[in-house]
Amino acid sequence: MIESTLDARDAICDQTVLSGDGWIHVIKAGEIFRIVDLEGDQAVDTLFYNASETSEHYSATVTIVKQRNIYLTTGTTLFSNLGNPMLTIVADTCGRHDTLGGACAAESNQVRYAIEKRYMHACRNTFLTKIADPQWNLGKRDVAANINFFMNVPVTPEGKLTFEDGISQPGKYVEMRAGMDVIALISNCPQLNNPCNGYDPSPIRILIWSSGN
Ligand SMILES: [Zn+2]
Repeated sequence: MIESTLDARDAICDQTVLSGDGWIHVIKAGEIFRIVDLEGDQAVDTLFYNASETSEHYSATVTIVKQRNIYLTTGTTLFSNLGNPMLTIVADTCGRHDTLGGACAAESNQVRYAIEKRYMHACRNTFLTKIADPQWNLGKRDVAANINFFMNVPVTPEGKLTFEDGISQPGKYVEMRAGMDVIALISNCPQLNNPCNGYDPSPIRILIWSSGN
């Protein structure tokens, strides 16, 4: 667990994103990007794209293979599908983040919970809504396997995934430095049926500091 020395009063961007909402924003090379889990136990589904060539995106596979670890925390470099470093986690007071569980979707809600859950709002809907603006040059096929910040998905000795109660608590945060200009795409998960949000989705705070910090 590494704490940050940055002061929120110096941030160039400071926004709150409600549960069920999304956020899309360019983070420039050298800038520092923090996500705060304001009330604890909140899954923050996140993807990154190379801002100048959006077919290059975060790759869970490359990141896991390169660091030889399935969990993300301080020191983890987030790699792209082309093997390039995109961002590096420089501070983390939660300690573990998932990149295996994927984003909730109408289809998975139906399979996991019940047929009528198909119509509940899901992270995949938020991703698609946020990238619908043509300025981002992103489409459906660009929604790759994502990161779930603050989500606890331990792997059992038998090799299975379990979605557990979060290990995050109010005020826990993760902070990363961009190694290239990236588009950050976030869905603050609306999922009510899964313990990853403590059955009570809650807001997050997002901060960015300039490269001088
Ligand atoms: Zn979700």
